[in-house]
Amino acid sequence: TGRVAGKKAFITGGAQGLGAAAGRMLAKEGAKVALADLNLAGAQAVAAEINAAHGAGTAFAYQLDVTQEDQWIEVLEKAASDMGGLSVLVNNAGIGGDGPIESLDFGLWKKVMSVNVDSVFLGAKHALTHMRAHQPGSIINLSSIAGLIANGNSPAYNASKAAVWLLSKNIALYCAKMKLDIRSNSIHPTFIDTPILDGFSARFGKEEAFAKLARQVPMGRIGEPNDIANAVLYLASDESKFMTGAEIKVDGGISA
Ligand code: NAD
Repeated sequence: TGRVAGKKAFITGGAQGLGAAAGRMLAKEGAKVALADLNLAGAQAVAAEINAAHGAGTAFAYQLDVTQEDQWIEVLEKAASDMGGLSVLVNNAGIGGDGPIESLDFGLWKKVMSVNVDSVFLGAKHALTHMRAHQPGSIINLSSIAGLIANGNSPAYNASKAAVWLLSKNIALYCAKMKLDIRSNSIHPTFIDTPILDGFSARFGKEEAFAKLARQVPMGRIGEPNDIANAVLYLASDESKFMTGAEIKVDGGISA
């Protein structure tokens, strides 16, 4: 039982933050989950916690660098075999950390673009091979409000998340044209309390840093990981069966 009972979900960046929250939420609602991350120990810890709560064989952990095509092929194969198929892909792994354009190192630009964009291309390309056997399916891509609204501080993050937004729609139209019952949508969070904000918190102290961010949000606070996990849950479930090529903004009104 549960809103995603029987679904088999592969989640990148599942060791912490939004990926871990999505894994816990989908497992609680009846899915099997594969948590893939650069940080294998972190993914294993989250999987162990999920298995303790919902039974052995609910969650699996894998090491994956989402920028490496050979690793994607190998890890998707293993995960589909461990879970008994693959019906949901959550392209969640992503990084920020770039700075203003004039001082931005070209290497860091390329790294942010690769982790945030190559990952979605490679993940969708290779997951579709497995997902066509387990329709209906859902591809869920973590973009950002920064993929819709520019900020002047992080050009690679802005450009990469805008690329995720349209790539997500491209995949949606491709699947529809191919008569696949596989949907593709993007989620656009504003500031959410995860380790991705650690650098910013270190500069001002966590309380002051979060207060600065909260002042930018009409609802007057930053979000919590489950605010995003709930959107992932909706998109992973058949409740969203007629939604594809859409974007869901979860942002306390910042883009309104
Ligand atoms: P996070 O930094 O807490 O977690 C990201 C995870 O991705 C980490 O476990 C990290 O090890 C993993 N990762 C990084 N590079 C990887 C790679 N090459 N291969 C595999 N795994 C890799 O971040 P988060 O806050 O949970 O963010 C998740 C997603 O949501 C990201 O795409 C982020 O851009 C997006 N997002 C977050 C916020 C926010 O405020 N938290 C806002 C908007 C969008």
